[in-house]
Amino acid sequence: MTERGGRPLNLLITGAASGIGAGLAQELARSGNHVIISDLQLRDCQAVAERIRAEGGSADAAAVDVTSDASVAAAFASLPRPVDVLVNDAGLQHVAPLIDFTMAKWDYLVQVMLIGSARLTRAVLPGMRERRFGRIVNIGSIHSLVASPNKSAYVAAKHGLLGLTRTIALETADVDITINTICPSYVKTPLVDKQIGDQARTRGIPESDVIKEIMLKPMPKGVFIGMDELAGITTFLISQAARNISGQAIVVDGGWTAQ
Ligand code: NAD
Repeated sequence: MTERGGRPLNLLITGAASGIGAGLAQELARSGNHVIISDLQLRDCQAVAERIRAEGGSADAAAVDVTSDASVAAAFASLPRPVDVLVNDAGLQHVAPLIDFTMAKWDYLVQVMLIGSARLTRAVLPGMRERRFGRIVNIGSIHSLVASPNKSAYVAAKHGLLGLTRTIALETADVDITINTICPSYVKTPLVDKQIGDQARTRGIPESDVIKEIMLKPMPKGVFIGMDELAGITTFLISQAARNISGQAIVVDGGWTAQ
């Protein structure tokens, strides 16, 4: 367990009702941290928190729409504990050539993954500064570093997240606060399952070919990234051993960008 003054760390994870956020919450609760499950629907957050408590972990639930100042303010007004660690995980994908993207959709992806991460970071920083400790872990993507066609809004938002990471690292360098962005290639979650189905339909090929020939092809290791890997990296980043790692992209891509 990572501790702060003899008590477990309190982690607020956005987008934690599904996929990577839910997986991280479960793994980090298993190692003794308190997790606050936040996502759009309170009911979904409560279900994840309940599962964690059922296996002996400590968890609360809070509805947070990361695109809304009012939603974030309301959630923070009723949080029972200070936030030591923020994990900006909320996200979504939309696949279309730019010409077919509505600007409303483009704007929403950036609102959730880039501006939402800035909004939540802004909300936790005063408390972290007061307590002179904090860890912010952003879930970026391999698409923080490279592009793929038909993902312009996602790639732009995730590239932007690295700019935010580096800037806030400089703005918090005077205290024990760090901010880093984990950049995974594909992790098998509902977000990726949807893409597999969509791509199989639009390309007229079997789902197994989408996985093998499109998703895993650029990765020399040729396997999906596991939740245990993301949890292990997060555990390291929030530890004292990582207190001088800030403003970094932690790339977990099975060798994709080594080529
Ligand atoms: P997911 O669809 O399983 O989960 C995303 C969660 O974000 C959902 O529960 C959704 O409700 C929530 N969300 C969306 N808009 C929100 C908003 N406005 N406010 C609060 N919550 C909101 O997807 P996932 O695969 O677990 O993705 C999680 C993060 O990981 C995303 O940022 C994604 O870009 C990133 N990522 C995923 C992969 C992958 O292969 N799955 C790879 C790299 C990065």
